[in-house]
Amino acid sequence: MIGIVPAGPGGLCYHPRLAALPLPRIAAMDDAPLARAPDVAASATPAAHAADPRKAEFEANKLRKRLRRQVGQAIGDYGLISPGDRVMVCLSGGKDSYGLLDILRSLQGRAPFHFDIVAVNLDQKQPGFPADVLPRYLEGLGVPFRIAEQDTYSVVKRVVAAGATMCSMCSRLRRGVLYRVAGEIGATRIALGHHRDDILATFFLNLFFGGKLKTMPPKLVSDDGRHVVIRPLAYVRERDLVRYADLMRFPIIPCNLCGSQEHLQRRQVALMLRDWERKFPGRTESIYNALAKVVPSHLMDRALFDFAAVRATGRAEPDGDIAFDVDTALERATAPGVVAVDLPGA
Ligand code: SF4
Repeated sequence: MIGIVPAGPGGLCYHPRLAALPLPRIAAMDDAPLARAPDVAASATPAAHAADPRKAEFEANKLRKRLRRQVGQAIGDYGLISPGDRVMVCLSGGKDSYGLLDILRSLQGRAPFHFDIVAVNLDQKQPGFPADVLPRYLEGLGVPFRIAEQDTYSVVKRVVAAGATMCSMCSRLRRGVLYRVAGEIGATRIALGHHRDDILATFFLNLFFGGKLKTMPPKLVSDDGRHVVIRPLAYVRERDLVRYADLMRFPIIPCNLCGSQEHLQRRQVALMLRDWERKFPGRTESIYNALAKVVPSHLMDRALFDFAAVRATGRAEPDGDIAFDVDTALERATAPGVVAVDLPGA
């Protein structure tokens, strides 16, 4: 049985055998009835569930299949998890990380190879943080876990000017603790709960305010160079995670305990994307797909493409410049009602 033990001030709180023993493989859940959150969430049961629990279960199963397919696809496409990996799932108590843990556990039972999962939560000592919720939830599921305790809240409060957004410093401190824990438990992957909408929003934040074409990739090396960070929810829409958390009755811990305001620019970008999605269905989908179809020769980054070496080749280039042509695909998309015709030989 994995549990927690009391920790000293600023210390870590985990089962003493966790780091020393090979972690047990968690039983497959796919063909078992849906494992809803243990009783800890009972008080949050939405009225709709109480009214028709079978319908809620049917919907959760359907949604779970979709999420599992998307996460499995991302894992395959980007090589996120390999045989023998020990995946540290960072669990904040928000809907995204609950969904991530749940879907990864579900895939663990179906994967053609073995990998371990350890859930890790950082208790940042925010006032009112319900420290019992996650240990109780994880014990109920039988998931190996570790709770790291570090009072980053006081540090951030002391250092950041009153009224300023605390998130950047808070995230930096949190990242440092999580990297340390990953080393201590021998994690070979650090899994974060960022989803498709986070990836899109970050892309626009970098574009608008950072002057760079970049976002959160599904897989990268941590900034200390010692860990591999993965985002298995890269293909998952936020609205599906909201729905899934509701259907599964995850015991959500509010994310505003620190009292910090959400970053204004991030909020504005999220609103912009939502507005686009409403007014121009498919636009964000197109942008998202474009992130995986970069054409370095058609951008301007000399580090990615050697423009100085460009020479006439004397043969037809499918990726050559079509600056003088009308792009029929774009025309179709930008002029609804106008049918673009591809002329043979044109
Ligand atoms: S909302 Fe609060 S806890 Fe979350 S990153 Fe910002 S400062 Fe930290």
